[in-house]
Amino acid sequence: MNILHISAECFPIAKVGGLADVVGALPQYQNKIGVKSKVVMPYYNNAFVKKRTWEKYFSFDLNIENQRHTVEILKGNLKLGFELFLVKIKGFTDREEVYGYDDDYKRFLAFQLAVLDFVTKNKWSIDVFHCHDHHTGLIPFLMSYADKFQHFKNTPSVFTIHNAQYQGQFGFEYLHLFPEFENGRGDILDWNGTINPLAAGIKSAWKVNTVSPTYMEELKLKANGLEKLLSYESEKCMGILNGIDTKVWDAATDRALVKNYAQNNIQSGKKANKRMLCKKFNLDENKPLVAFIGRLVYEKGADLFPDIFADTLSKGRVNILLLGSGQDHIESELRLLLPSFQGCYNAYFGYDEQLAHQIYAGADFILMPSRVEPCGLNQMYALKYGTIPVVRRTGGLADTVIDIGDGGFGICHNHASVDDVCHAMDRIVEFYEDQINFRKIRKKTMRIDHSWVKSAKEYVTLYESLKIN
Ligand code: ADP
Repeated sequence: MNILHISAECFPIAKVGGLADVVGALPQYQNKIGVKSKVVMPYYNNAFVKKRTWEKYFSFDLNIENQRHTVEILKGNLKLGFELFLVKIKGFTDREEVYGYDDDYKRFLAFQLAVLDFVTKNKWSIDVFHCHDHHTGLIPFLMSYADKFQHFKNTPSVFTIHNAQYQGQFGFEYLHLFPEFENGRGDILDWNGTINPLAAGIKSAWKVNTVSPTYMEELKLKANGLEKLLSYESEKCMGILNGIDTKVWDAATDRALVKNYAQNNIQSGKKANKRMLCKKFNLDENKPLVAFIGRLVYEKGADLFPDIFADTLSKGRVNILLLGSGQDHIESELRLLLPSFQGCYNAYFGYDEQLAHQIYAGADFILMPSRVEPCGLNQMYALKYGTIPVVRRTGGLADTVIDIGDGGFGICHNHASVDDVCHAMDRIVEFYEDQINFRKIRKKTMRIDHSWVKSAKEYVTLYESLKIN
């Protein structure tokens, strides 16, 4: 079976969040179980891409707004475990950042049109187009209804929602960017009077999934305006939990760590990595080290941190270390706390992949008070590194973390509120004080299997259910 994954991000080429990790891992694991998966993504003019050599694989012209744009398909030789193709469209997908440009809607539409043109012109035989998030949500629509892509009408498409908060809406005044499509099918593009690529993907893909079962259920109640649509389409919807790439995320082999460790030497391994972090960030290695890694946004509950940190740190019983960037007002409030809590609180505001690995290894607890968490990868990386997740029961966090009070290995709370998280902090202190139990449980977490093996198979079962006989 030939699967084409289409995504805006893919680790290690371009990563903004979990989407990249998933698209960089799932195809590898699928290739191991006999499915031929490859990835096509936009070209980015970023440091990773510029440092590598790329073979010019194909080229053609794409017509947008009556102007011809040269499309180059570049192929990498990166030993990723799957074939990878970059779509370089002059003026659209030749910029440094993945997102954040005023014309993102046009860039991603051009990318999607170019992908379908490329597959057509290159005569690839694809059994399933697997589209990821709203940046590729128009592909199932174009395959079903665009005149020029009618040859794809009977080819199945799967649409994976990694995050329904972002829907990529743009106005109907840009409808002229689309190729001719079946009369009257503009309704598929429409949600509340705008072109909504996420809604279009949900309506027109053959199957839709979210990256955890609980998130799918939650979306039927709260989905940034798409609740009714997801309830209406529920028969073709399901949840498949993400996995983690255990080649990249393994404390025994991770080159970012000062000391590698496995279950048998977890105690000395974590101690050495914690000591390094505490030294680097001026923290007290005798206190529990609670860390946060992620985007500093409302979705992640990061707006609660200034109050939570001030309350917790004033009690003097834990260290807090933060790695992240995001909304300016959250960053500046968190910065303001730094002078008051020197020696037990520090933060690195930015993106640093290596430091993230070091924190998963050196921290005792990972904090995730998310308001929305479609799956969440951090808690699974933490478990693999023997670090206790402290999570709000939502989305994938509810599917992957069991509270120590229920015989599990994490600390869970129900609300994204200062009170609930402060109470969780008190539980952290209590749990850490009982070192025998704490060590026993954290050792156990390293055994929990969240590798892609199971989920990759679930996707294959999903593809197989779409086979046309
Ligand atoms: P989301 O995709 O919503 O941001 P996920 O939990 O699915 O959240 O994935 C987050 C990924 O991004 C993890 O691999 C995490 O380690 C990484 N990450 C997030 N922020 C940073 C940062 N500032 N530096 C390094 N890695 C980060």
